[in-house]
Amino acid sequence: MTDSILAPKPNSPMAKAGQAPKIGLVSLGCPKALVDSERIMTTLRGQGYSFSRDYAGADIVLVNTCGFLDSAKAESLQAIGEALNENGRVIVTGCLGVEEDLIRATHPRVLAVSGPHQYEAVVNAVNEHLPPVPNKFVDLVPEQGLRLTPRHYAYLKISEGCNNRCSFCIIPQIRGDLASRPVASVLYEAERLVQAGVKELLVISQDTSAYGVDIKYATSKYRGRDVKAKFHDLADELGNLGVWTRLHYVYPYPHVDSVIPLMAEGKILPYLDIPFQHASPSVLKAMRRPANQEKTLDRILRWREICPDLTIRSNFIVGFPGETEEDFEMLLDWIEEAEIDRAGCFEYEPVTGAPANELEGIVPDDVKRDRFERLMEVAQNVSTGQLAKKVGRTIDVLVDDVEPENNRAIARSKWDAPDIDGQVIVSNATGIKPGDLVTVTVTDSDEYDLFATPVVKAS
Ligand code: SF4
Repeated sequence: MTDSILAPKPNSPMAKAGQAPKIGLVSLGCPKALVDSERIMTTLRGQGYSFSRDYAGADIVLVNTCGFLDSAKAESLQAIGEALNENGRVIVTGCLGVEEDLIRATHPRVLAVSGPHQYEAVVNAVNEHLPPVPNKFVDLVPEQGLRLTPRHYAYLKISEGCNNRCSFCIIPQIRGDLASRPVASVLYEAERLVQAGVKELLVISQDTSAYGVDIKYATSKYRGRDVKAKFHDLADELGNLGVWTRLHYVYPYPHVDSVIPLMAEGKILPYLDIPFQHASPSVLKAMRRPANQEKTLDRILRWREICPDLTIRSNFIVGFPGETEEDFEMLLDWIEEAEIDRAGCFEYEPVTGAPANELEGIVPDDVKRDRFERLMEVAQNVSTGQLAKKVGRTIDVLVDDVEPENNRAIARSKWDAPDIDGQVIVSNATGIKPGDLVTVTVTDSDEYDLFATPVVKAS
């Protein structure tokens, strides 16, 4: 989960005469929620609003909430409380917005509540409680919209909702069934981002490999050509834009095979983020996970034959109801055999409203903790081994940050997604800036990171 706070509180309830009204935005939750925040910001900026980086400078505060897990709900309610205390004028939107009664019972003073993707409702609420001030000198919205990520990478949301019904998840209840965007709209947005200086596109959705299923892979006109709203075709077109394209939230359906050659030829990054969650057939069945899991290991081995550079990142849940020690050991063996390069792990936590709450075989907390630690140890060993194989190679890295005092840059390779994976620590980094693409030689590795020195600098 990502928390980004762009702007949180106002002293004055209304904008001062003639000045652009200022909004504070607290954005909680996953990258998909972040994209929603960006869209809301873009629309509001177009209406002449500006944004404040602190509560004191804002006329109203918008809290984009997360409602995925009970802990995320608690965090969202706490953020709303903080905004009310610090500011007093708060509008709530996002996933927790579907539980308006809960929000109003906890915080009766909130001005308005709307659910996820209800852009119009949020903007209407802002207009009602903080009317825009007409101003012909208002800044134009940058063509690529407003973003919360650094200038050199951007999330590209290709669909909303999900057709799967995993038993531990309430996302489909909150966000509805899969609703894919027309492919031309996605591609034109990607183009605008690239023109604005983005060097890495991170494709996100709840189920990226299901893209287009709901709209029967409808074609739309992109640059005069008919393009199908299909997972492979979208990846292929994005690969033509000349920037890094990284695929997140992919399931191992057979048709995913078709993008592996695009990775092998360097069109898109050799990276797949596949939330497997488990490997034991009985646990996967209880989880009601999509895709044929029995053949998954064979599929991964075939992918690696075609694209040896492929990195697989995944998430796993330990302590799911009914998970036995045998199931868990099967998972550990599977992670080793599949050589899952990057693994995250959650201890199972019931989510209010999820069908898994009815399952028997609750795993005690101390067993969950023990399994979490054992899984992370195995994952760390696999990661260490995989990264050690990269030492000596010359690779391109994208610089996220620089530390002039240490003369080093913090960068990422094609194998590292921002925030969730490791980094490449580049020494002798004089003259290197965030957003630069730099060619480096990998000199060392540890459990999660690579260490490198520059070969050639290019922007
Ligand atoms: S694939 Fe499963 S876990 Fe992911 S959003 Fe859909 S229902 Fe939830």
